[in-house]
Amino acid sequence: MDKNNRIAILGGGPAGLSLAMYLEKKGYANYVIYEKSGRVGGKCCSPVYNGAAIELGAVMGAPSYYAVKDVEEYCGFTHDGPSMKREFKRKDGTVYDPFDGNDPKNVPHMKRIRKQLARMALLLETKYKGYDVNGHRGVAFGRYEGDAATPSRPHIEGENPNLKDLSLPFKEFCKLNKVPLIQEMWIGPFTPFGYGYFDEIPAAYVLKYLDMQTLLNFTKVNLWTWKEGTESIWRRLNEKLMHPAALNSLVTSIERKDGKVFLTVNGREEVFDILVITSPLDQLGSFMKLREEEQEHFSKILTVAYDTFAVDIEKGDYPEHSYYILENMTPTRRGHLQVYYKRDESRIDLPIVTYSIRSHLGKRTLSYKRGKAMVLADLALAKNKASKVLEEHSWYYFPHVDSSTYASGWYDEVEAMQGKENTFYAGEVMSFGDMDEVSEYSRELVERFF
Ligand SMILES: Cc1cc2nc3c(=O)[nH]c(=O)nc-3n(C[C@H](O)[C@H](O)[C@H](O)COP(=O)(O)OP(=O)(O)OC[C@H]3O[C@@H](n4cnc5c(N)ncnc54)[C@H](O)[C@@H]3O)c2cc1C
Repeated sequence: MDKNNRIAILGGGPAGLSLAMYLEKKGYANYVIYEKSGRVGGKCCSPVYNGAAIELGAVMGAPSYYAVKDVEEYCGFTHDGPSMKREFKRKDGTVYDPFDGNDPKNVPHMKRIRKQLARMALLLETKYKGYDVNGHRGVAFGRYEGDAATPSRPHIEGENPNLKDLSLPFKEFCKLNKVPLIQEMWIGPFTPFGYGYFDEIPAAYVLKYLDMQTLLNFTKVNLWTWKEGTESIWRRLNEKLMHPAALNSLVTSIERKDGKVFLTVNGREEVFDILVITSPLDQLGSFMKLREEEQEHFSKILTVAYDTFAVDIEKGDYPEHSYYILENMTPTRRGHLQVYYKRDESRIDLPIVTYSIRSHLGKRTLSYKRGKAMVLADLALAKNKASKVLEEHSWYYFPHVDSSTYASGWYDEVEAMQGKENTFYAGEVMSFGDMDEVSEYSRELVERFF
């Protein structure tokens, strides 16, 4: 591709900003990032309370976040945030350890889990070889194609018909492979972080995000946080870029004609050679004329109704740690409090953030008002009563496709549209809804097409 091409990037979240970084690294300097809001970072959202950043959106990373590591190295900073301590509570507030191998009542169950975990690790290395490359190209047809999940990320590709199993909901995938108990290990970092329930979400999403090494890092709480919050990763990258994002940019129309892309931004027309979209693909139709195939594919994207509340806690009720309530992580308990996060173990003056899901495929989505009331009641039941809601967010969350759409080859069809009419797609739905997967996808997109 011509290095002088003028490139428009839609969205100043992790996907758009990392895309700009990788473009610069490859010698492309003629780009503009359009961000509709007044700040960069998207779902990495870290407001300051009592002099410290809290997390309303993305919280943590792991040592396998290689693309985030690229950003850190590019800008010269590191993950310097408070370490995390997590415990489990029953919904009545009793603290317990579901994985306590010393409790005689737990021993047989833990033995079975360990055995199934070892089996799963072996299956992933052998039967499902290639499962963990970034993105979903070829999976539905039994192929893998992409960069390996190792620090040097070599390109790998090959045939593996077993990969077709990854389109099954994770629960079915585990049953098929006779490892049903391992869901107990995977659920903590998955469902309460807004990624849905194992009886609905294709295994590909679960395992590409929580590949074996990332899962083990979560289990051992070997995780990264950032003192100024995850938003600061992207703020710093934005400051370092040759062309920081154009904030408060409202794109009201996009037209593609005569080999060019015409954007109307804040009422002014801008002309580009290339367009990269990292903003929600299922919302494009409201300001962009889509081809029929685009319309058809993007209309199949699903999201999760996911809420976070930052709350002050009543005097004397402040939680000791962050808590996971496993009993609330089932579809029948949707709307209930799943996790609440104490950002810094050494502080008792920072808001606590709650995480809850209100939707499930094929079931009625609970109203926002009802969900909020349930979360506040659950906090009180867990003996950490909220005195005030300081911030609240209902997110556009975890764009994905369902099992049958995945199996029918949705990803290969969308990948085949990359580059048509000078348009490329990146961001969450193309890989997975976490900061590293989207940045990794942006890296590969630049490698593949630019
Ligand atoms: C509560 C919560 C917890 C999370 N926890 C973690 C975690 O612990 N670890 C992790 O890795 N990830 C986590 N995530 C997910 C992570 O934040 C996202 O996956 C990541 O930010 C996705 O990056 P993105 O750039 O694709 O999209 P976004 O972050 O959504 O950014 C998209 C950007 O595009 C802008 N935009 C949208 N439409 C337009 C338009 N028409 N024109 C211009 N701009 C537009 C938006 O304003 C936004 O800034 C969490 C998210 C939330 C909400």
